[in-house]
Amino acid sequence: MTIDASGDVSIDGVSLRSLPKVSLHDHLDGAIRPATIIELARDAGVDAPAADADGLVAWMLQQTSGGSLESYLEVFRLTTDVTQTREALVRVAREYVEDLAADGVVYGEVRWAPQLHVAGGLSLEDAVDAVREGLEAGEDAASARGHDIRVNQLLSAMRNQDDAVSVARLAVANRGEGVVGFDIAGPEAGYPASGHREAFDYLAENFFPTTVHAGEGDGVESIRSALVDGRAMRLGHGVRLAEDLTIVDRDAEEVRVQFGDVARWVRDREIPLELSPSSNVQTGAIAEWGDQIADHPFDLLYQLGFAVTVNTDNRTMSRTSLTRELALLVEAFGYDLEDIEAFQLNAAAAAFLSVEEREELIEIIGEGFDV
Ligand SMILES: [Zn+2]
Repeated sequence: MTIDASGDVSIDGVSLRSLPKVSLHDHLDGAIRPATIIELARDAGVDAPAADADGLVAWMLQQTSGGSLESYLEVFRLTTDVTQTREALVRVAREYVEDLAADGVVYGEVRWAPQLHVAGGLSLEDAVDAVREGLEAGEDAASARGHDIRVNQLLSAMRNQDDAVSVARLAVANRGEGVVGFDIAGPEAGYPASGHREAFDYLAENFFPTTVHAGEGDGVESIRSALVDGRAMRLGHGVRLAEDLTIVDRDAEEVRVQFGDVARWVRDREIPLELSPSSNVQTGAIAEWGDQIADHPFDLLYQLGFAVTVNTDNRTMSRTSLTRELALLVEAFGYDLEDIEAFQLNAAAAAFLSVEEREELIEIIGEGFDV
């Protein structure tokens, strides 16, 4: 098999891009089209590190290949600097949906941190409203082209700031208005979920779903805190959970492992892992196992029965798409259409939607993969 320039691959004569997919972990400010960043920078009077889209892509590639989450996060300064107005947020949200639709995504949850978009005078609520307007415009544009897609918002608080409670309140206040979950993002090491206990208590008291970045820039103890203090219903990456597994015996047929208590809980309770292969390689999250997609413990976690899902994390920074991430996994681990479908069904089951909506999504995936 060969991955084409667009990131697509054909399996049994079926294009991966054409199949219905679900995207759970994809940051709005990590998914802005390079050409749009250049235009928005010009409008906002922000100095861009390059004059055109190609130069910008090269700069971002250099910035994000450092192997640390912290250097990776630096690129976000530019993308947030250029999205401080209502117009800019509406535009990037609309394009976000159009790009997902073109990639065959039928349901997405976009995460972003409203507090990073109020330096230009918007209120937190204005910012959420602008993103909602853009997402709806993107859904309408996709629908006009014959592709049904829905994208809901997850509001992220920054783990290195201390006002997560206001983001939690904002998220709950917008329940039923397209905001379906809460997340904490930003540098993980040194900033465990326990530091935001008040926000997580508020969310739990209001029965509001949470996903927590954990097991990316820090290890098993951070995942423990995400589960215990954050009451996380999903783990943002969670890839370093594999550090809580000890391989006892492995042959071609089977792998036998000893589970630590955190890994056992996550596996047996089927807490979804929002794995993001390319991003996990770029940030060094899989450094314990190597630096290639084939070194990623994705397959180990899948074979052991974890609820694995496949995600892009930051499409622009990683120059990727959900189709391409799936293609990379097919290339590394030889997955077939049944495996790819299983990842989509896991994601549909993990979506922060009602049971009826999840069942509908599962039906759409089942029909789409019935080729
Ligand atoms: Zn992320």
